[in-house]
Amino acid sequence: MKLRIAYLYPDQLNIYGDRGNILTLYQRCQWRGIEVEILTPGLGDTIDPEGPDLYFMGGGQDSQQIQVCEDIHQRKAHSLKLAGEHGAVFLTICGGYQLLGNYYKPHNGDELKGLSLIDAYTVAGNTRYIGNVAIERPNGQQVVGFENHSGRTYLGKGVTPLGKVLHGKGNNGEDGFEGVAQGNFYGTYLHGSLLPKNPALADELIGKALQRRYGTVQLEPLNDQIEIQAHQRALALKH
Ligand code: GLN
Repeated sequence: MKLRIAYLYPDQLNIYGDRGNILTLYQRCQWRGIEVEILTPGLGDTIDPEGPDLYFMGGGQDSQQIQVCEDIHQRKAHSLKLAGEHGAVFLTICGGYQLLGNYYKPHNGDELKGLSLIDAYTVAGNTRYIGNVAIERPNGQQVVGFENHSGRTYLGKGVTPLGKVLHGKGNNGEDGFEGVAQGNFYGTYLHGSLLPKNPALADELIGKALQRRYGTVQLEPLNDQIEIQAHQRALALKH
């Protein structure tokens, strides 16, 4: 078995160690004897929609988001849409999450058109939301991370959030929700990096991504003692 990952725009969307998510996906596959291929499509590159099974976009400053936005619509949006329709998994963080929706309106500057892979929009607010976050998913699973964003994201009707906020601000500081988990599309404001401290979520993504080529895959359990300790520790941080 082989997991094909595309880490989109690693030179632009790479803040707060979001790259750690790729390392986690890689390592959890390696521990199970699953081969991993990592592509890093950047500015100017195109994408084969039948290639990668998991796409990752991290966070970035507004100036990087502008560069990425231009390139993505010129060279990648169509392939990403096809890939999404064919079951490829998307994990997007912060600036990347904002791009997964319909648009992001920065403070100064024009609206940045998103990929519209989920029905959501984001507008920059007057203050930044900065701090540790914990959320609870509909299945009771808790997810921890660190947020730093001024964008307020609003999900369309019927779009399911990743979870409800236990502490922190989440999507917009108003409705008590954080992120999005709609079929194979995931978005969240949680840096940290996210996946090292949330191994169950990492495995959910790996399982879903492998599914499109191999059908339902039973992932071998790993010894997550250290990951769980890190998770518990982050859960206790309330600011
Ligand atoms: N520019 C966006 C915001 O501040 C994204 C920031 C980020 O990716 N951390 O809302």
